[in-house]
Amino acid sequence: MKQNKDIIIIGAGPIGITCALECEKRQWDYKVLEKGALTNSLFNYPRNMTFFSTSEKLEIDAIPFISNQPKPTRNEALEYYRRVVTSNALNISLYENVKKIDKKENHFHIKTNKIEYTSKYVIIATGFYDIPNLLNIPGELLPKVTHYYKEAHNYALQDVVVVGASNSAVDAALEIWRKGGKVTMVIRGKQIGERVKYWVRPDIINRIKEGSITAFFDSEISEIHADSVVIKTNTKKITLSNDYVIALTGYLPDFDLLQHCGIKLSKDNKRIPEYTPETMESNINGLYLAGVICGGQETHKWFIENSRIHAKKIAQAIANRL
Ligand code: FAD
Repeated sequence: MKQNKDIIIIGAGPIGITCALECEKRQWDYKVLEKGALTNSLFNYPRNMTFFSTSEKLEIDAIPFISNQPKPTRNEALEYYRRVVTSNALNISLYENVKKIDKKENHFHIKTNKIEYTSKYVIIATGFYDIPNLLNIPGELLPKVTHYYKEAHNYALQDVVVVGASNSAVDAALEIWRKGGKVTMVIRGKQIGERVKYWVRPDIINRIKEGSITAFFDSEISEIHADSVVIKTNTKKITLSNDYVIALTGYLPDFDLLQHCGIKLSKDNKRIPEYTPETMESNINGLYLAGVICGGQETHKWFIENSRIHAKKIAQAIANRL
């Protein structure tokens, strides 16, 4: 089966949805293809997480986002984006994974796990949350290891190692300790990450100082076994008894998808895709980039707050070509 569309948007995260709103307003012939649930990344965030942004900064197309506290929870964000989609009857196909985008002379050919499409324009808004930055150490594939933290209850009374010192790692460590888990953090640097939310950072520093949470700085986890882990510090190797490992060492965008359709990446280790900031058009004519994907490996550069603007830029650029 084949479908024809003027615009295909890949990814129904906050930014893909914002692009769809722009298309809907102009009555363009578009479709959003999303490989998972609606706002799949947010759906997979920790259940009890609170955004660092206040709700008005997460609003799209000036549609009010009302939350109970200034900083909304994951559930409130899911509610908000879901409601925006249903109220505006956006054309979104869920659980449809884009496998390949091929640039032909005058159009794109898009292949998903379900059908094939042709379109004049493609907007890639695929985010970065699907591919974990692996530790690449023995034992990483054991079922007790995860790269996504959901909630604390199942870790109560268990020996848990949290790898990393970013916001996600700190939130997980604190929540698990508060629910009765015995938490050890393994941190490559000399301190808790500087980008950790300013109201959370003193909490973790004090829990470490008082010995409630153990932290190994300047250290790496080097082996994972069924009931233990090996930690390599500056001076020695330590074996700890262990039930679970939560490795929160970041995520990577799907560079293969970008490179396959000819998008150039910067040659440094940031691997930033090539695009024109005014239009968000990549080095491929008619192919646009939106949202956090624009940062390549610099996954902290773009977020909802500062990338919602991409949708308007792209819509304007496409309108200028019609
Ligand atoms: P995403 O939300 O990641 O959406 C991309 C979508 O594309 C996903 O639904 C994915 O399933 C889909 N997709 C990927 N590949 C394919 C494919 N091949 N085919 C079809 N679909 C595909 N930002 C803020 O502004 N404020 C905050 O407070 C904040 N807090 C955060 C807290 C956490 C724990 C994390 C991890 C991030 C946070 N961010 C925050 C960052 C923010 O969530 C992301 O910037 C946001 O999700 C980016 O939106 P996006 O639409 O670009 O990408």
